[in-house]
Amino acid sequence: MDIQLARRIVEALADRIVAEADTLTALDQAIGDGDHGLNMKRGFEAVRAELDALAAGGVPALWSGVGRTLVMKVGGASGPLYGTLFLQLGKSWPATPDAAGLARCLEEAVAAVAARGKSQAGQKTMLDVLLPVAARVAAGDRPAALRAHAAAAAEATVPMLAERGRASFLKERSIGHLDPGAHSSRLMIEAVCDVLEELG
Ligand code: ADP
Ligand code: MG
Repeated sequence: MDIQLARRIVEALADRIVAEADTLTALDQAIGDGDHGLNMKRGFEAVRAELDALAAGGVPALWSGVGRTLVMKVGGASGPLYGTLFLQLGKSWPATPDAAGLARCLEEAVAAVAARGKSQAGQKTMLDVLLPVAARVAAGDRPAALRAHAAAAAEATVPMLAERGRASFLKERSIGHLDPGAHSSRLMIEAVCDVLEELG
């Protein structure tokens, strides 16, 4: 992956999150404090504004820079978690990014999120999308399959009982709602798949 492609992916992530900020906010109003859309929008607008500088040092430095910016600008629970995802992508980025190396890098980045959040699959969080999608990437799925998998994984958080984050305060009342972070993860995966599919 060259820096042009990495830049396009970051732009696509930012465009998608900013476009869907109201949806993310509405989801967080139902089972949180209603700031997820605004948090993510603020973070990705900052990423977009700083993109030239962030991309000046090559691909791993771009991921690390995105991570630092998200940590600083997003706030809430999701800022440090998504920040950790990108920081670890930067740290784990393979010298020769072949399919196996990229898959391992993604798995390490998602594992870092789980460690940071002290969380695992089944707790109604972003990890319910990130963990299975990273596993499907490792299994060699193409973008179309990954997109479908991310959508299904996000929807699968609806019947879950939240065990992490603000939604966990609601206990049983968190059941029946889509997790905001699972939805933002789905949107980001779709944005990456869009760019990869354009390449053919
Ligand atoms: P806050 O909850 O501080 O208001 P956000 O609204 O920006 O932060 O983000 C909420 C999302 O963060 C949740 O929907 C969930 O997916 C994710 N989240 C919260 N806590 C954790 C955690 N410990 N591990 C993984 N994801 C988490
Ligand atoms: Mg919130």
